[in-house]
Amino acid sequence: MTITIEIKCPHCHTTNISRNGKKGNGKQNYRCGRCGRQFIGDYQMTYPGCLSGVVAMVKIMPVRGIGIPDISTVLKMSITKVLNVHKSGNYAVRPKQTHYDCLEIDEFWTYGGKKKNKVGCIYAYHRESGEIVA
Ligand SMILES: [Zn+2]
Repeated sequence: MTITIEIKCPHCHTTNISRNGKKGNGKQNYRCGRCGRQFIGDYQMTYPGCLSGVVAMVKIMPVRGIGIPDISTVLKMSITKVLNVHKSGNYAVRPKQTHYDCLEIDEFWTYGGKKKNKVGCIYAYHRESGEIVA
């Protein structure tokens, strides 16, 4: 039985990669043929918070009503990492289409650092594509 693992560049998502030696801890290092970025494959990651795609999951989960501690538990990453993703996130919404037949609008409330800093957020959601539109 052969197991095939497809490795993509975490930056530009191309499969044009090559091996580039080993890291000091013995993990295989790869180099992207397009953008030149060096990285370690997801299958060798020790900490789940470094997996590619996990940042996108962290960004979408609060919109679905999942709290910060629950995100940390489900994705097996620290609360600090979850909060840092939200702090450093660029949340400018860019819709992929110019027209949507049906959108759902919802709101959620959160706190910005302190309980005094209550912040409300209203967003529009396209259920069929899973896209946040506005
Ligand atoms: Zn790349």
